[in-house]
Amino acid sequence: MVYGITGGTGSGKTTVCGFLEEMGYTVIDADKVARSLTEPGSQVLWKLSETFGKEIIAEDGSLIRKKLGEIVFNNKEKLQQLNDIMGPAMDEAFRSALDAAVLKNPYSKVFFDAPTLYESGRESMVDKVWVVAAGLETRIKRIMDRDGLSREQVLARMANQLPEEEKIRRADVVIYNDGTLEDLRMTVEKALK
Ligand code: ATP
Repeated sequence: MVYGITGGTGSGKTTVCGFLEEMGYTVIDADKVARSLTEPGSQVLWKLSETFGKEIIAEDGSLIRKKLGEIVFNNKEKLQQLNDIMGPAMDEAFRSALDAAVLKNPYSKVFFDAPTLYESGRESMVDKVWVVAAGLETRIKRIMDRDGLSREQVLARMANQLPEEEKIRRADVVIYNDGTLEDLRMTVEKALK
């Protein structure tokens, strides 16, 4: 069984996945997969620089993710171009990470930590979806504290994501994370059962 873990920024996906890893489950991290695909010298990075310009590449050949983020932020056409390059490569990398996890432990559940599981249409690649959710003010405060952002910056980030209600509506399981970390751990244990 492959479970997708998704949810809005600050809901607690990374924290949930940390608990799952502590419990011995394999977690495939979509952000890490994306990072590994854009390493210096990779074909994907070459395609990105062809499309978005050399200014997204640092002197040491690495991708300046912030710069790329600024280019696609609020620009539907550029975001589509980015998705067209990253999408197929991500699908392939996810499948091979999944194959490796299944080979290692054929009977274990595997989790796919994918913040944009719904937005990217990758929900069909998993069997069930867990959505991590929390009240809006709680999420805003968590991200302001974690990333040192202003309230407006957090709201701008949220505006680019599918609304939480929509994710909850489409979820197989909703992990509500408005309490303590201990409450969250217990909710995850219950969901596993
Ligand atoms: P993003 O999509 O922005 O990466 P996320 O959904 O992965 O966010 P986390 O990074 O897991 O969210 O959590 C955001 C912050 O809130 C982190 O600093 C985390 O330690 C903290 N946090 C998460 N859940 C709780 C909780 N129940 N109690 C206290 N702090 C929490």
